[in-house]
Amino acid sequence: VCQQSLGAALMNEQAGSVELSIVIPAFNEAEGLQGLVDGIQRVLAGLSLAGYELILVDDGSQDPTWSTIESMNQASDQVRGIALARNFGKEAAVLAGLEASQGQAVLVMDGDGQHPPERIPQFIEAWRAGADLVEGVKTSRSDQSWLSRLASRLFNRAFSRMTGVDLNEASDFRLLSRPAVDALLALPERAFFFRGLSSWMGYPTARVEFETAARTSGRSKFSTWSLARY
Ligand code: UDP
Ligand code: MG
Repeated sequence: VCQQSLGAALMNEQAGSVELSIVIPAFNEAEGLQGLVDGIQRVLAGLSLAGYELILVDDGSQDPTWSTIESMNQASDQVRGIALARNFGKEAAVLAGLEASQGQAVLVMDGDGQHPPERIPQFIEAWRAGADLVEGVKTSRSDQSWLSRLASRLFNRAFSRMTGVDLNEASDFRLLSRPAVDALLALPERAFFFRGLSSWMGYPTARVEFETAARTSGRSKFSTWSLARY
């Protein structure tokens, strides 16, 4: 449920010229968001993109995330904002961003700085070379405790056994081509699981390795309970 949206009307006129959309879910990320967007825009400025949009999805934050998004939207034509009516969780925020996206390719990345913008050119290169799905693959899990690593391993093993999709080392830092986004949005799922479903579809896939950076500020928004619900 979306409460407010910024920049859509303006972008609609230019819809045909958006080559890349970047979707960023954000829950209480006010502190680091501006720095992240600056970093992304610096990287994108060095690429020959026909046009791009950044879609920042405020997932019911209680901090000034939305006012930060509003001021970034004022400052840049490329920044769009969506405010969800309450905190629905990351999956819903990503879904809202995908639905609003207009790009020929859509990259999803975290809003806490853990997904390094320096890798964006490699995602675009792999997509231009023909991949419909470009998966960011974590080379280290140094940011996680042993307990959380163990939980990830058990979850990934169970998920692989049930679905045939290997999510080991997988992340939500991933790019989908427009056909893949449209196919994903057409699936009749009631519970959306971006990482699992996008891999499960079976499109030609490429990988980009990245090292998970430290959060620029704050702490993980996932409770043990929210992870267990996956
Ligand atoms: N996030 C969100 N809604 C939530 C929880 C998280 O939109 O209810 C966002 C969060 O702001 C961040 C991304 O999802 O941009 C990943 O969350 P987090 O960094 O807390 O997860 P972790 O890196 O610990 O897996
Ligand atoms: Mg994080």
